[in-house]
Amino acid sequence: MTPAQFDMDDRSQSQTIRDVAVVGGGLAGLSAACALVESGYRVHLVERRPYVGGRASSYEHPGTGEVVDNCQHVLLGCCTNLIAFYRQMEVADQIRWFDRITFLEPGGRRSLLRPGFLPAPLHNSVSFLAAPALSMADKLAISRGMLAFLRGVPEDDGENFAHWLARHGQTQRAIDHFWNPVLVSALNEDLDHLSVQYAGMVFRTSFMQSAQAGWMGVPTIPLSELYGHALGFIESHGGEASLRTGVDGFAYDEQNRRWQIQYEGGNIEADAVVLAVPFESAQKLLPQFPARDDGAKEKLAGQLEHFQHSPITGIHLWFDRTITELEHAVLLDTTIQWMYNKTLLQPQRRAEGSGSYLELVVSASKSLVAKSRQEILDLALRELAEFFPVVREAKLVKAAVVKEVRATFSVTPGIDAYRPGPTTAWPQLFLAGDWTATDWPSTMEGAVRSGYLAAEALTQAAGSPQKYLHPDLPAQGLMRLFQ
Ligand SMILES: Cc1cc2nc3c(=O)[nH]c(=O)nc-3n(C[C@H](O)[C@H](O)[C@H](O)COP(=O)(O)OP(=O)(O)OC[C@H]3O[C@@H](n4cnc5c(N)ncnc54)[C@H](O)[C@@H]3O)c2cc1C
Repeated sequence: MTPAQFDMDDRSQSQTIRDVAVVGGGLAGLSAACALVESGYRVHLVERRPYVGGRASSYEHPGTGEVVDNCQHVLLGCCTNLIAFYRQMEVADQIRWFDRITFLEPGGRRSLLRPGFLPAPLHNSVSFLAAPALSMADKLAISRGMLAFLRGVPEDDGENFAHWLARHGQTQRAIDHFWNPVLVSALNEDLDHLSVQYAGMVFRTSFMQSAQAGWMGVPTIPLSELYGHALGFIESHGGEASLRTGVDGFAYDEQNRRWQIQYEGGNIEADAVVLAVPFESAQKLLPQFPARDDGAKEKLAGQLEHFQHSPITGIHLWFDRTITELEHAVLLDTTIQWMYNKTLLQPQRRAEGSGSYLELVVSASKSLVAKSRQEILDLALRELAEFFPVVREAKLVKAAVVKEVRATFSVTPGIDAYRPGPTTAWPQLFLAGDWTATDWPSTMEGAVRSGYLAAEALTQAAGSPQKYLHPDLPAQGLMRLFQ
């Protein structure tokens, strides 16, 4: 495609959009950049850090000398845009898929959730009915709750999910062993802060739609290695990237209809900008946007004030021996919530001898934020031993605790009213980022969707609209009747 003509407010004049600056090298920026560069735009990606991937990245941990992901990241089969992005970068074969999840109780009792022979939305029901972690009363309550989402999610988003659960007669164990572990890890927020619409979306989109929609994908290589392929893609298509380049201002030249993207020691010129930074960075940059007399700046600032962060803590443990043959598991009734056996999940680590490397993940980890590294390690080891007694005899060779205090934004009730779309009041300035209006929570899929939406809006403004967004997975089985 040839870069198209852009019609300004004054339709008698038009300008070619040729050069596009993408600010932010997270998944939103990378996906927008890859889409646009493949369509023939000259893309310049600008990222503050020395590596790309943003919140989904890995680095050499200074205390251990090990390359660690800032946190284990997983995706689901319903993440159609993220999966398409992996295909575009030719890394789809670096994702390992699992169709089952093990729930572990202290003492080691296991419940397995996996698809069976029944059609969606009943595909998991045989294993669900057999799960010892839930009584028959819990299972009936959960089934009643799920039925409420069969036809869709409530229109009104004023209620929090804890309230909804109480209203739908859920037992305490149904909450502790099902709703809470699934939703807190999927949405990274406590149930009393969660929107019913987003909670319902998780169950409809991943649990009910089809078996494939609920498969869990785990990267088999470190995250920065995975997303580093996007840089190669951009460069091989004639684009460029500047790392270690933090943008601190914007200027717009009305006459030449060009943006100037400023950073310490220089600037980049472009016809259009995709700003793909997290909401707190957008908040910081907003005062540097060109002034407007239509109140657009104040309006966006007001929207941004409604966003809140929620933390995630990753606890990385290297032992001198094998702790479990499980590749991953949900850990019930403890502060630690997920165990990922990185030795088994990342093939290159398997060659590293007889020890094992586990990562424990605690979502919505507000209770850990103020704790010291040692307090968190003591707690994690004590709790891990409740599931795997061998931990008591094993030697902890090294450990790392990674607290991501600004891990995600919270999908609180009513938040969608404040999520801006990709187009802005400024000419040829587009917004991307997981926090923009994607209908998805703060996830890699949400970020990629936002990148594609911004790229689509840019091509639309350029007068040569392209479609980058991929369709959702089709409903299967009986779910086809409830679309
Ligand atoms: C601990 C943790 C665990 C998570 N687990 C999962 C998971 O399992 N599954 C899942 O789907 N999602 C998960 N997420 C969420 C997911 O990582 C994010 O939703 C997604 O990566 C956000 O992408 P983004 O591009 O919107 O933003 P970011 O990744 O934040 O990217 C924005 C980029 O902009 C750069 N930037 C900021 N300001 C400037 C500036 N002024 N100039 C230049 N560059 C700038 C930043 O350095 C960053 O690289 C997790 C997040 C965290 C932190």
